Amino acid sequence: MPSSVQPSRSPDDPSPRPGTGRDRRVSVTPVTPVTAAGGTRPLVAALAGAAASLTRLVVPIECPGCGMRDIALCPACAGLLDGAPIRRERDAPRLDRLDGRAPLPVWACAPYAGPLRDVVVAWKDKGRVDLTGVLDAAAHHAGVILAPGVRAAVGRGEARACAGSGRDPVLVVPAPSTAAARRARGREPVLSLARALAQGLCAAGVEATPVRLLTQRGHDQVGRGSRGRGERLTTVRAPRRGAAPGPSLAGAACLLVDDVLTTGATLAACERALEGLGAHVLGAFVVAATPPPRQGSAAHEVHLT
Ligand SMILES: [Zn+2]
Repeated sequence: MPSSVQPSRSPDDPSPRPGTGRDRRVSVTPVTPVTAAGGTRPLVAALAGAAASLTRLVVPIECPGCGMRDIALCPACAGLLDGAPIRRERDAPRLDRLDGRAPLPVWACAPYAGPLRDVVVAWKDKGRVDLTGVLDAAAHHAGVILAPGVRAAVGRGEARACAGSGRDPVLVVPAPSTAAARRARGREPVLSLARALAQGLCAAGVEATPVRLLTQRGHDQVGRGSRGRGERLTTVRAPRRGAAPGPSLAGAACLLVDDVLTTGATLAACERALEGLGAHVLGAFVVAATPPPRQGSAAHEVHLT
């Protein structure tokens, strides 16, 4: 079982979030995967970061959300991620369960639309590694906000984890990407989000650790529309029961993490894979959720308080 994650940033830290300042010299945050079942790719991540830095020497940088020149991310676009995470599972039809249970709770920082959509696409698929700090800060903030709810959910469920007790940590599980997608990006953006969310939970007193438990087989998803990606992802896999070495997942409390919620097919597949091993999936966090096509979606918003 991986050890718990120590927070790298206090929620009370008054300093600006990384990457949100006005300084053109944005910091590059290469991903150092924390894995339970896989290896690290530090060289690939370093090369990707170096390539992005070199690109910015010859290509003027601009805010991916609005096009403002000479700034990595303008304050207005960065501010789109500042809100408290909101429940969005009712807008994802593929999360519906056939057994009558309520859909898996999913919290999102913001709607996947407008400038934020362009920011997420730039970060994930267009090489804007320098935005990692901003997205990770949003996940960390969400971890702090969600911690009381996670603690309460563990307390009233059958999950084995005892948040804050020093016993089994809540497992923060990133939605998987294909090996081809990892090679194309040279990094694992969702794993980075999972690590940040776990750090936020830890900062708020809930023991949590990021663990890459799921794998995906299928087509390269890089550059594919998010809705199409969700529709095609049907082969999420978890370690086979009894596979050694590794912790038992029976009764383990898990939180899923993904970048975007569209139809919910991805998270539903992840939930099935984990529940197949006996884990208790408490819910999921995503950076952004696709708004429903109809009007009046605000009626479904439920604040976590
Ligand atoms: Zn902007």
